[in-house]
Amino acid sequence: MTSRLGKLRSQLAQNGLEAIFISQSENRRYLSGFTGSAGFLLISQHRAILATDFRYVEQAQAQAPDFEIVKIQGEIPKWFPPLASELNAVKLGFEGKALTFSIYKELTDVIGDTKKKISLVPTDGLVESLRAVKDKEELELLVKAAALADATIEYIIPRIKPGASEKELAWEIESFLRRNGSEPLPFELIVASGSNSAMPHARPTDKIIRSGEPVVIDIGAKVAGYTSDITRTICLGNQDSKFQRIYDIVLGAQLTAIATIQAGMSGEQADRLGRSVIERAGYKDNFGHGLGHGVGLATHEEPRLGTNSTTILTEGMVFTVEPGIYIGGWGGVRIEDMAVLEDGKIRLLTKARKI
Ligand code: ZN
Ligand code: ZN
Repeated sequence: MTSRLGKLRSQLAQNGLEAIFISQSENRRYLSGFTGSAGFLLISQHRAILATDFRYVEQAQAQAPDFEIVKIQGEIPKWFPPLASELNAVKLGFEGKALTFSIYKELTDVIGDTKKKISLVPTDGLVESLRAVKDKEELELLVKAAALADATIEYIIPRIKPGASEKELAWEIESFLRRNGSEPLPFELIVASGSNSAMPHARPTDKIIRSGEPVVIDIGAKVAGYTSDITRTICLGNQDSKFQRIYDIVLGAQLTAIATIQAGMSGEQADRLGRSVIERAGYKDNFGHGLGHGVGLATHEEPRLGTNSTTILTEGMVFTVEPGIYIGGWGGVRIEDMAVLEDGKIRLLTKARKI
């Protein structure tokens, strides 16, 4: 945590900020170690304050030893002014995308009332960009979460039989994940069969899974707050030639991207490596989402691998590689693995077998 704070402080200095007000929950956890669901951080070059209410004070003291814990009562106007007057912050950053308008309004009103000349400065993705590069402890947790997702896929795929509903299979997957140590699932898992699998974010329904149709299974485990994310697509019984053809294209796109993505590329360049394979096969309009996304405390975080992503991929980033082809009325195929950038190249964290 100390090194994370150090990195944030040099970011503050580079951005001309004296302090920052953190309200986004994963950023709060990442910087402080505090896992409670309510509280704010106020961080300057010399102070690190975690303000939370009476329900969490004891937990905060145990989990965030690098922080001064301030017990807050009531609304911002009651507790913020004394802290602000101690802080001597001329430019106070806040998270532009995370702070609610009502809290922003309270802060500006309060600051207007204090004699200090504090100006609120919106920041964008400051802590998120630190979170994109994983440290050793984070990578260990991500490896565990990936291994649990792998074990679940290996367990469930041989047990899928025609005649079960998507919801029944989804429940079997969820209970396996929880029995084997996952925290509450990081996202609603996807079991989508037949034409339902043409929707990248389909929810499990009462539809019965039949032979000969694609079944997309997209799941993740959560270990100590860290998420994994894996997708496999199968076809029970006799695979028609269309399934085989689409599957081979998607797999080809994924393996190409895995083999050729390198540190130093932009998210857009990495996306192109997988996307061009699908485009060349004639399915340009059937791959509507990005090639991948960062994974960590959140299931979707920096870096984004997609058209218009200017983020430069660097050593230690963890992200998915998940091309797909979706054909309305027929179904879809998506293959997703999680990877870390190491020695400039991709090393896969999920390893469950593909067909
Ligand atoms: Zn997924
Ligand atoms: Zn994903």
